[in-house]
Amino acid sequence: MELLGRSIIGSRRGETGGAVIHGFNPATGETLQPPFHSATSAEVDQAAQMATAAFSSYSRTTGAQRGNFLRQIAKNIEALGDTLVIRATGETGLAEGRIRAETTRTCNQLRLFADLVEEGSWVDARIDHGDPDRTPIPKPDVRSLLRPLGPVVVFGASNFPLAFSVAGGDTASALGAGNPVIVKAHHAHPGTSELVGLAVADAVRQCELHEGVFSLLYGSGSEIGTALVRHPLIKAGGFTGSRAGGRALFDAASSRPEPIPFYAEMSSVNPVVILPEALSVRPDQIATGLHASVTLGAGQFCTNPGLVFLPSTSDADAFVQRLSELMSATPDQTMLTPGIRSSYEKGVVERGGQTGVATVMKRSADAHCAAGTALFRINTDQYLENAVLSEEIFGPTTLIVTYKDEEQLSALVHSLAGELTATIHGSESELAAHQELLSVLETKAGRLLFNGFPTGVEVCHAMVHGGPYPATSDGRSTSVGTRAIFRFTRQVCFQSFPDGALPEQLKEENPLGIWRLVDGKLEK
Ligand code: NAP
Repeated sequence: MELLGRSIIGSRRGETGGAVIHGFNPATGETLQPPFHSATSAEVDQAAQMATAAFSSYSRTTGAQRGNFLRQIAKNIEALGDTLVIRATGETGLAEGRIRAETTRTCNQLRLFADLVEEGSWVDARIDHGDPDRTPIPKPDVRSLLRPLGPVVVFGASNFPLAFSVAGGDTASALGAGNPVIVKAHHAHPGTSELVGLAVADAVRQCELHEGVFSLLYGSGSEIGTALVRHPLIKAGGFTGSRAGGRALFDAASSRPEPIPFYAEMSSVNPVVILPEALSVRPDQIATGLHASVTLGAGQFCTNPGLVFLPSTSDADAFVQRLSELMSATPDQTMLTPGIRSSYEKGVVERGGQTGVATVMKRSADAHCAAGTALFRINTDQYLENAVLSEEIFGPTTLIVTYKDEEQLSALVHSLAGELTATIHGSESELAAHQELLSVLETKAGRLLFNGFPTGVEVCHAMVHGGPYPATSDGRSTSVGTRAIFRFTRQVCFQSFPDGALPEQLKEENPLGIWRLVDGKLEK
């Protein structure tokens, strides 16, 4: 399939002539063809106008129609087969197995949202019957449900070129809820974005939906991305990336004359707390699991465990030594972009120079975009004196902070910022004895893990991939799992409406057979 390097604006293709970027093979340094042309500001407006025009029909499609659409997108992505794998591996440096697995995850994620919207109960329909005879005043008939917001802008993430990019979780949840989507393509995988963008645009046509349901725009974040977020017709945004980028876009969304919700998933260091008994009973198992989690995918995961609280018992040195051996033996890995690689190198060099930080090991990598592992160690007092040490370094590194006693562990846990995850390694009796610690961790992180490792985020109904700021811009939300759909909805209430004029989900006879809260009782 020939790539055109132009934006997709409904059923049309974008102009050429503006700024150009190229795909880039981080493994070889090779520049990839074709050039990709930035959208113009007129095209930003066209995409927003078209999405708004699409909203009135798309927001009223049935769950069955939207489910069919999401399934068609998945089918079209699968049909790309090796074309997608070759392009995606070429422009991300990620291994073929990873891209194939991520393709499966992306398509399963689309199908999970299809299941959700086809079943229909997610709209949280509530009915409180009226009572004209109630005294002293009659009770009105009140019914409510969740409705979509309007056009949503989605920023593709560099580290998940499929599962969190053009047809990833943000897009699937926004489309599932009934919102048209405009994606700002990430510059790190423009060809992959075009292939998947065409798969979505084809599905729009195959399902006979309004062309404005989906657009994909190329261009820089600060120009095209900001213009989209500021466009008065855009009603919400979803983002995964850096804290600087997420915060800039969140601020742009919040400072509009009409502020809009902007769900940014940003930085997290994902602390791992190791308790003394666990360390003494299974040091090797913890070191091996931690090593695998820190180095997975060159450490380019938002759930990478970048901070480890380790008791300074007699087992500590041997544990650090074992982890150091494993990290030293890990081959260098290609990072996604030169920018991510240079941030990693800078972060690692700066960390090694901080007061009290011991560099346990550090591999230097010379090849294109390659990252070598690094392991650091510090004690609690010195860690707590230096706020820089709690910042995310995106890559295959972690910082071990040793604690002497419960008081120091408590101080460490209280010092944490908002996190996507927090992990505890301990025996069950240790866990029971650390209820206070758990209750603090619960205020800090979106997902708590026991005797596991945070990388590997299951896409399912119960998943929470969110957390207080700065992990995300809105700690009430998740960007993975079916609850992600609620980000792109609002509650609408109908009072004293005749049955025939109500949405299907709220009609008295429950024609869709969905679960509803009727006079305070959940029923079908
Ligand atoms: P990024 O720089 O935040 O870029 C993500 C998207 O936001 C891109 O489309 C980018 O546009 C846009 N953008 C960035 N800064 C912006 C700004 N000031 N105003 C408007 N739009 C902006 O993230 P990245 O390129 O994926 O990786 C850079 C760093 O982000 C990494 O080194 C890592 O620290 C962090 N990161 C974190 C996670 C996580 O899950 N926690 C995931 C990925 C990356 P352009 O295309 O113009 O760049």
